[in-house]
Amino acid sequence: MDFNYTDEQLMIKDMARKFAENELWPVVGEYDEKDIYPEHLVAKMQETGLMTVGVPEEFGGPGIDYLGQALAVEELARGDLGLATVVVASCLLASEPVVVAANQEQAERWWKGLLDGKVAAFCLTEPGAGSDVGGMSTNCKKVDGGYILNGTKCFITNGGVAGQYTVFATLDKKMGYKGICAFMVDRNSEGISTGKKENKMGIRTSNTTEVVFDNVFVPEENRLGAEGTGWMTCMKTLDLSRPMIAALAVGTAQGAFDHAVEYAKMRVQFGKPIASFQAIQFLLADALMDIEAGRLLYHKACWLKMAGKPFSQAASIAKGWCGDMAMRVTTDMVQVYGGYGYTKEYPVEKYMRDAKILQIYEGTSQVQRIVVANNLLKGLR
Ligand SMILES: Cc1cc2nc3c(=O)[nH]c(=O)nc-3n(C[C@H](O)[C@H](O)[C@H](O)COP(=O)(O)OP(=O)(O)OC[C@H]3O[C@@H](n4cnc5c(N)ncnc54)[C@H](O)[C@@H]3O)c2cc1C
Repeated sequence: MDFNYTDEQLMIKDMARKFAENELWPVVGEYDEKDIYPEHLVAKMQETGLMTVGVPEEFGGPGIDYLGQALAVEELARGDLGLATVVVASCLLASEPVVVAANQEQAERWWKGLLDGKVAAFCLTEPGAGSDVGGMSTNCKKVDGGYILNGTKCFITNGGVAGQYTVFATLDKKMGYKGICAFMVDRNSEGISTGKKENKMGIRTSNTTEVVFDNVFVPEENRLGAEGTGWMTCMKTLDLSRPMIAALAVGTAQGAFDHAVEYAKMRVQFGKPIASFQAIQFLLADALMDIEAGRLLYHKACWLKMAGKPFSQAASIAKGWCGDMAMRVTTDMVQVYGGYGYTKEYPVEKYMRDAKILQIYEGTSQVQRIVVANNLLKGLR
């Protein structure tokens, strides 16, 4: 086991950290307050290559390895979880079905779209199918030369700003998992509209909307993998993206922690900096232990994946634990600030609001425990 990062991993980590500190920290509080998706910051992330950090080298991307991608999104989340989520949703989550199931021509088209500046979105969740994704109703009816899509997806990150989607739909609900197909869908296809934009508790710099498919024709050459393999594609996609969510959680906790340490050294009560009180020191020490443990969990999942070993269990352990950890740490960091932490004068309350989503999206904390327990009972540790 080697705890040293490669030069490339260090380079992308450092670049994302500088971007977060210089470009995100000074302004994201205002965008969060005003509920604005800052297009110009997304454009800057495109210019620097951070928006396309997941594009493989053979398709014109930077070819950053899996751990390097995770380090980059951890650093972005230290700056702002909303914009880090925009990146993960586009070049990782929405793109993993392409990694898993696309042929060469499809992959070229998909990645070119991202490199040309399109944002992508992953359309899985529906109003009636959240944790129970297999219960989806969005239908793909087979017609001459392709499929007609009908249905509504909800809570879609980048839903209103994306130029291309990966979409899951069923040939027939009665077929269960075996009826699910995955597609690449162009936003300009006739019949697509974006519905309600969510007014969220946190990650308010990300755009979250409904995406409505009303008799949308999707050509056969846009189906990813064989008919009925969409479920497997979806499960493999979530395995690949869960370590990234764990990395986002570590970055979010780290951001709140770094601010709180500085505050504790500066804030004076009873004639001393509050950092001199053991009660505050213990909050900080516990937070640091949590963050370090979370980082090791997602590093392990990345290492297993890069070594070509099974990593599904490690991915769910990392996602489940780190999501809960980020909530715990950000809540404690508000405590370090006392009353000021409860106000928008300081950034720490935003970290706490942002962190909550880490226990919800890409499988709730409960769903991760279901996955871990199922694997455990099958003999997988
Ligand atoms: C801001 C945001 C961004 C999102 N981005 C995307 C996106 O880009 N693409 C996308 O497809 N989806 C996205 N989602 C959807 C997200 O993945 C779902 O919200 C999540 O999977 C939970 O589904 P649900 O909201 O329907 O909750 P439900 O499934 O209704 O769950 C409600 C509660 O019941 C619990 N529960 C459910 N089933 C069980 C069970 N069997 N055992 C124990 N407890 C259970 C859950 O853990 C939860 O606590 C996003 C959501 C949000 C809020």
